Amino acid sequence: MQITLYGAAEEVTGSCYLLETNSTRLLIDCGMFQGSERLERQNRIPSNILSKKLDAVLLTHGHLDHCGRLPLLIKAGYSGPIFATEGTIDIASLIMNDSARIEEYDTDKENQKRKRNRQRLINPLFRVRDVTQVCRQFEPVNYNQWLQIAPGIQCQFVEAGHIIGSSCIELVIDADGGKKKIVFSGDLGQWNAPIVRDPARLNSADLVFMESTYGDRQHKSLKDTLAEFEDLIITTVNKKGKILIPTFAVGRAQLILYHMAAMFRDKKVPPFPIYLDSPMAIAATSLYTKHLKFMDEEARSLENSGQLRTDLATLKTCETAIESKALNAIDGPCLILAGAGMCNAGRILHHLRHCLGSPETVVIIVGYQAKGCLGRDLIEGASTVKILGETVHVRATVKGLGGFSAHAGQSDLLRWLEPMAAHHPRVVLTHGESHSINELAYQIKHRFDIECEKPKLEDVIIF
Ligand SMILES: [Zn+2]
Repeated sequence: MQITLYGAAEEVTGSCYLLETNSTRLLIDCGMFQGSERLERQNRIPSNILSKKLDAVLLTHGHLDHCGRLPLLIKAGYSGPIFATEGTIDIASLIMNDSARIEEYDTDKENQKRKRNRQRLINPLFRVRDVTQVCRQFEPVNYNQWLQIAPGIQCQFVEAGHIIGSSCIELVIDADGGKKKIVFSGDLGQWNAPIVRDPARLNSADLVFMESTYGDRQHKSLKDTLAEFEDLIITTVNKKGKILIPTFAVGRAQLILYHMAAMFRDKKVPPFPIYLDSPMAIAATSLYTKHLKFMDEEARSLENSGQLRTDLATLKTCETAIESKALNAIDGPCLILAGAGMCNAGRILHHLRHCLGSPETVVIIVGYQAKGCLGRDLIEGASTVKILGETVHVRATVKGLGGFSAHAGQSDLLRWLEPMAAHHPRVVLTHGESHSINELAYQIKHRFDIECEKPKLEDVIIF
């Protein structure tokens, strides 16, 4: 059999693997490339994927860099099943619909300009109706249940601890020399993170595809991260400043709200207004409540008892752009959670433009920042940045808190691999920039005496 990488090779977006045996062809994830224009130009379905019958798609989780090319796959003619957990189906639907609406809106705007200049009109990458078709093809699967998806191929989805619904996928394939087990890590979360459950560890594999997003670094412990977070919040509240948190709508927004609830409950800071300024984060927060059974015990009991709602009495949601813009006129202290998480689009841009010049503002970066995005520039200490065509001087405090990451740091990645490593599988490192992959490969060699493979885009792993 062979596996071809159509994304997330030496970088963190565009996850997509084509697995081919003599009789079956499967796709694991079909994610969007994100970050720079160069990457986004790769958002198409390589012709090889549908050159022969594709039997099934398996989706690890609902982030756009794992599901965002599914509408393109359907447009290109795929009509088969897309297997995913219930949580993933809901999250992926939400995220793809949002992406389609942005695509349609941006294209309309661009086409108005083109019409005026008598230029050729363009089409959006995909539309809401394409996403609707993707949703029709979803097939829900349970965690920890083996499923026959094609003759001679069984699969099981297990908890990845990354976001609600996230999973690692185990495949057992009948091959010439007997059964072979292949594991796709998907995106792995941290151990002991609030809200989500811990990642499940698998005991054996013959071949492992493993994410390496933070393979080169150790996150600060959650305890230290929280101490730093609380300190920043308290200091900014005392200065009556604004706290801006560019947030990924799914996962991080809920995590920040969860920690703010705890600060209010423990009276570390008097309650002050929190604005959830993102229709998508608002919708995602309801999905977390809907899928309570997939949350960890503590989060479940806080939600069931109504305690979380009491703690977050000062939380206000902003559905419309008008409500969002009105926040410019509001004095601190307040906390604004707005997307996009990498500051490359969305409402956070106008908040940053408005507030970065003020020394009372603090910007807390809580997620991964790809090369070339505004969030990365800010975290690397840029003194001026360009936002919405305007040059803005940065006088605000900008702070990155890696410990809130939904991704495992180096030690948790090694912890996840450990039981499988005892059997010396082939390990293929994906979903990371080269330096992260190299550092993780070094650690795996040193710890487990396994020489990792580091494929490039469109490389084929023969197995
Ligand atoms: Zn993810």
